[in-house]
Amino acid sequence: MDGRAASWRKTLSQSITTPDALPASIEIDRRLIQEVISRYPMGVNPYYLGLIKEKDDPIYKQCIPDIREISEQAGFEDPLNEEGDSPVPGLTHRYPDRVLFLVSSRCAMYCRFCNRKRKVGRSSMVTKESIREGLFYIKGHREIRDVLLSGGDPLLLSNRELFQILTDLRSVPHVEIIRIGTRVPCTLPQRITPQLAEMLGQFNPLFISTHFNHPDEITLEASLACGRLADAGIPLGCQTVLLRGINDEPGIIRELMRKLLTIRVRPYYLFQADPAKGTSHFWTPLKKGLEIMAALQGHTSGLCVPHFAVDLLGGGGKVTLLNDKRMTTE
Ligand SMILES: *Cc1c(COP(=O)(O)O)cnc(C)c1O
Ligand code: SF4
Repeated sequence: MDGRAASWRKTLSQSITTPDALPASIEIDRRLIQEVISRYPMGVNPYYLGLIKEKDDPIYKQCIPDIREISEQAGFEDPLNEEGDSPVPGLTHRYPDRVLFLVSSRCAMYCRFCNRKRKVGRSSMVTKESIREGLFYIKGHREIRDVLLSGGDPLLLSNRELFQILTDLRSVPHVEIIRIGTRVPCTLPQRITPQLAEMLGQFNPLFISTHFNHPDEITLEASLACGRLADAGIPLGCQTVLLRGINDEPGIIRELMRKLLTIRVRPYYLFQADPAKGTSHFWTPLKKGLEIMAALQGHTSGLCVPHFAVDLLGGGGKVTLLNDKRMTTE
C-alpha cells in the first residue's frame, strides 16, 4: 500500500458511526440519532464532515441522521423492486442489454436519502459468492453488453479486488461497456489515487457515473479526483438526486450543473427521489423537477442539461420527463 492509499483508508477509518462521536458543536438529540442508526447506518468521514458549514445546511442534511427516517412511515423498502428483477442476488436485469451488478456493500458516506438504505452498509448485501454468481450470470447471457457496477460503492473495494472483477468482466466477449456508479469523487475524492485512475484506464471503454447533489460538494479535492479520471481517458457523467431542502431550486441546480462541467463531469440524470421508506422528508413534487428543467433548457448550455428521470414504482424502469409548455395555455 503506498502513502496515498493509506491516507484514504485512514480518512475512511476515522468516519463517525455513532452519535457520541459527532462533534460537540452539532446540537442534536443523540439518543434519537442512536435509534435511527440502529435501523440505518451512519458513516460520515472527516472529509465530507468538513464540508458542513452549519447545522441543517445541504451537506449536513445529506449525511446526518434525522428522526423522521424512522418516525415517518411513507414509502417502500425496495421501491424499484430491484430484488424482484434479480435472477441472482445482487444483480438486477431489467433492461434487455444491460444489468446492474452490486459489488460492494460499503459507501464512503451513508446518504440519508439512499434508495437502498434498507441494505447498504450491511456485509450480507454483497458477498464473494454473490459476485461469483453475478459474473456467472453475465457470462451466460449474451444479450448483456453493458454492465453497471454499483453497491454500495464499487470504489471502496481495494485496487486488487476491483482489478479482478474488471478483468473477469473484460474476459466476457459480449460485454462491450463497463460502467461504475460511484459517489467517491464527491464523498471521498482522496480515494481517486493516480494508481486507481491508471488501473481503471486499462479497462476502456469504461464510464464512471458519479453523484453530486450540491455546488458546495465541488471542491478542489473533487476537481482533482475527476480531472485524474478524465486524464486517464474515463468519461464522467453525473446522476443528481432532487432533494427537498437541499437542491430543489433552479438556481442551485443550474450552478451545480455548470460547476460539474468545469470539473469535466457531464450531467446525465436528474432523478426524482425514489419513494424509499425513511426518506419521505426529502421528496419533492414532480412539478418541481419540471420547473427546474424549464429553468435549464435554453437558459444554459445544452451540455449542462441532464435528463429528468423518474424510476417507476415496482420496477417499471426509468422514464424521462419533458416540460412541454406548448401543450398548456398558461
Ligand atoms: C438505471 C439502471 C440501469 C442503467 O440505465 P441507463 O438509463 O442505461 O443509464 C440499468 N439497470 C437498472 C436496473 C437500472 O436501474
Ligand atoms: S453512495 Fe449511493 S449507495 Fe451509498 S448511501 Fe449514498 S446513495 Fe446510497
